[in-house]
Amino acid sequence: MTEIAFREYIGKFNKRMEKYIPGEPWSPADEALYKPENLFEVPGKEADEMRFRAIKYAFSRHYEKNPFYRNFCDENGVSPQDIKGIEDLAKIPLIPDKFFKDYPSGNEFAAWLSGLVTGKTPDISIGKKNPTYDEVINAFNSAGMEIAYSSGTSGRHTFIPRDRKTFYASEYALAKTVITMIYPFWQYDMDGYLMMPNPHKTNVYAGKVCSMYFDAIENVEVAIDRDIPADMIKEAMGTGIKSSMLKFALKRGNKKMVNRMIKWLREKEKEGRKISMIGLPFILHFVMKELEERGETFDFGENGAVATGGGWKIYENERMSVEKFRKRVNEILGIPEENCLDVYGMVEGNGWMVQCPEGHYLHVPHSYFHPLILNDEYEVVEYGEWGRFAFLDPLAESYPGFIISGDRVRMLEHCPVCDRPGPVLEPEIKRAHGEEMRGCAEEMRRVLSMDLGG
Ligand SMILES: [Zn+2]
Repeated sequence: MTEIAFREYIGKFNKRMEKYIPGEPWSPADEALYKPENLFEVPGKEADEMRFRAIKYAFSRHYEKNPFYRNFCDENGVSPQDIKGIEDLAKIPLIPDKFFKDYPSGNEFAAWLSGLVTGKTPDISIGKKNPTYDEVINAFNSAGMEIAYSSGTSGRHTFIPRDRKTFYASEYALAKTVITMIYPFWQYDMDGYLMMPNPHKTNVYAGKVCSMYFDAIENVEVAIDRDIPADMIKEAMGTGIKSSMLKFALKRGNKKMVNRMIKWLREKEKEGRKISMIGLPFILHFVMKELEERGETFDFGENGAVATGGGWKIYENERMSVEKFRKRVNEILGIPEENCLDVYGMVEGNGWMVQCPEGHYLHVPHSYFHPLILNDEYEVVEYGEWGRFAFLDPLAESYPGFIISGDRVRMLEHCPVCDRPGPVLEPEIKRAHGEEMRGCAEEMRRVLSMDLGG
């Protein structure tokens, strides 16, 4: 790529995304995300310096302004003075992701959420004795927060209290990293299909974070257009008669969604439009299955792109590797494999690992996001070893983004295929042993069964 052409490309993008970019002066954390034009071409040394400054700044801030995290650090005997160089980053106390699931109900829930927050939470009033989770979240969100959640198979949710600035940073990071990897594909004037619930109607993080799509692209259609309350998701997590009825309803509901999307594909191909589809892989999987049965194919070629997220936990018997998926996208929709990229992110963090078009390894945006791989004793392991994914995320302003996840990954120092600097993760992410199945796709599958059945 020529640097000038890329600069122009990302400049156009930044113009569209103006509302997501904070005013100057920027903190070291803002700088690490907003300053580099190409987040995947920052040279190693420069990225190390930016990332160190950003994380040191964020750590000091949470240490000073967040009583619960301060206590946690004191218990671990670590303070900002101990963080002198990049090798000290591994000393920063990490919060297990389970912590964000350990919440009470009703009015205590509001106090619990406030307790996680760094700095001030807005005052809210809920005119009810026993508010639901969504009522509490909505009260905070109308007062300026952007709290969202994700849930696991046990029915416990992970609630993350983002303020608007943090949420915007996450959305911007997602859009920028995908658009960078898919260069020069993106243009504002194209059509998009969001394979997710309507971001403006849900508090589910995976859906909500996609509201940036409506700013990055001119015309967006949404696959699922209604609200999904947390309590309903919990109900859907159950087993037994209700759950089998839901499965039946799901089949019926899916058909409608699939037919709508096929109609859209036909129109777009006929009009010769450029299209992008982003969201849950299994929605496109259903669409491709139906097309296969009908013996229908498309030939979008360079006019089409797909970005998926959420893993492959669709109906266990249909689980498919990301590689097989993109081969099918190529066969059935005629979209080149280089235009079909998977994204890995978590509700707890604001870092998005995006596959490179050449090798489909998940590249870490290393100017700000610091990944760590831990063994069973929670010690940092070397590149090339499997372990639990943890991270230091300086973009999290309203909560300490120093978190241990339940995912098992393998990290390499450099992409084996392309020449972008910085570490990569192998494309298949697993759940760590003994961890419940989670991820947007699993959650959305359950959500969909509620949504489409009702
Ligand atoms: Zn690569």
